Amino acid sequence: MQITTERFEENTRVALANRQLQAALQNATIKFMLVRQMAAAHTPDWERLREQAEQIKKQTIEQLDVYLEQFAERVVALGGHVYWARDAEAACRYVVHLAKQRGVTLAVKGKSMMAEEIELNEALERAGVTPVETDLGEYIIQLAHEPPSHIIAPAIHKSKQQVAELFTEKLHIPLTDDIEELTRTARRTLREKFYQAGMGISGVNFAVAETGTIVLVENEGNIRLSTSLPRVHVAIMGLEKVIPRFADLAVFMRLLPRSATGQKMSAYVSFITGPRRPHEPDGPDELHVVIVDNGRSAMLRDPELRRALYCIHCGACLNVCPVYRKVGGHAYGWVYSGPIGAIVTPQLLSLRRASELPFASSLCGACRDACPVRIDFPKLLLALRHQVKENPTAQQIRPPWSERTAMAVWAFAMRSERRYRLATILARWIQKFFVADGTIQRAPLYPFSQWTKHRDLPPLASHSFRERWEAGVRDS
Ligand code: SF4
Repeated sequence: MQITTERFEENTRVALANRQLQAALQNATIKFMLVRQMAAAHTPDWERLREQAEQIKKQTIEQLDVYLEQFAERVVALGGHVYWARDAEAACRYVVHLAKQRGVTLAVKGKSMMAEEIELNEALERAGVTPVETDLGEYIIQLAHEPPSHIIAPAIHKSKQQVAELFTEKLHIPLTDDIEELTRTARRTLREKFYQAGMGISGVNFAVAETGTIVLVENEGNIRLSTSLPRVHVAIMGLEKVIPRFADLAVFMRLLPRSATGQKMSAYVSFITGPRRPHEPDGPDELHVVIVDNGRSAMLRDPELRRALYCIHCGACLNVCPVYRKVGGHAYGWVYSGPIGAIVTPQLLSLRRASELPFASSLCGACRDACPVRIDFPKLLLALRHQVKENPTAQQIRPPWSERTAMAVWAFAMRSERRYRLATILARWIQKFFVADGTIQRAPLYPFSQWTKHRDLPPLASHSFRERWEAGVRDS
């Protein structure tokens, strides 16, 4: 996957000019947003659930080492294998080595953001193992050689016609935009792969420390097939996926489907506790759990930014974000997009490579209100912006001289009360020439001129609050 986080601004221009993308994004995100709102409104204890989820995550992240050890011990006790991968390279190396050792040439995969993050498909292909995505959305984008553009709906950016043309080109079927026929074609093709594959690869939604259980949530049944038909199952998880107790699932299983797709419960939930036992008819002979760090320990060190690790990958923050809804996932340049991508990517990839992302937000707080684990996005985004500004190597794009001058003048005025007062008196006098109908519709000076290109600027009040206060005008 070509990482283009450094080109966020350029990517957004391309996305904004793509009319088909704009229509697809608008339709899909509004639909997801509305169903989530309805699901939340029909869940009387919604806010209490969110608070509980936040508390569970807080407790887990604070004692992550304890819960991870407990989880790993349970998996091993049940007959599974655990591999701790420091980074993407180590994780891929382990899976590739395992595939080669077991003579695997075809691997079926359930949707996994972690596998995208570590670029597992590419590593497998280089080693002569063919990975086949089995989630329909992932399958579509694999055929198109594109990265996902949404956490839960990877092909959100594609129209029905585009999928039809893709299937005709790659699967050699007559052109049709009948969705049922397209789905049947994908199912037929994939079913063969499930039978032939020597390895099934999945992500992990939750890893229960108490029981060593892997929990997978899905709607298509493909993950269930990927994890039970092939002889070897490899589950790849970020170390933040662990939760302490089985009982905690009661909270997350109510929040996740409702936040993601507005469903009370997803169609399939798989609980995998160790490999197949001798008396069981289904399941893999071998279970390998790869626990990946890849920058997460560094995130843990920051008491504020570590909250991004609470994420349960529901996608709700993407659907409500005014920026994501206009530019889509590819503009963010890596696997994670939207508000959560703007926080996670600079930490996982480096502040230097993704310095623009924390600024890709209006700080409206819609993501914070939607997030089932109550991540305080504006606070985290501001903390990251601060880090970018404090770190000269992270600032790839130097602001234009006019902006730097305006900021320098602003900083100079704000450093003393006298200067501040003088500046506001001056500004009030200057604005008189530009106020029409109670607003400034066209400001002359940069950066105000940029602002008024698209909206009106409210003028300064004729008397400041302090002046009114001193004059004794108080709200009663
Ligand atoms: S940050 Fe919150 S809203 Fe966004 S995907 Fe993660 S859990 Fe969902």
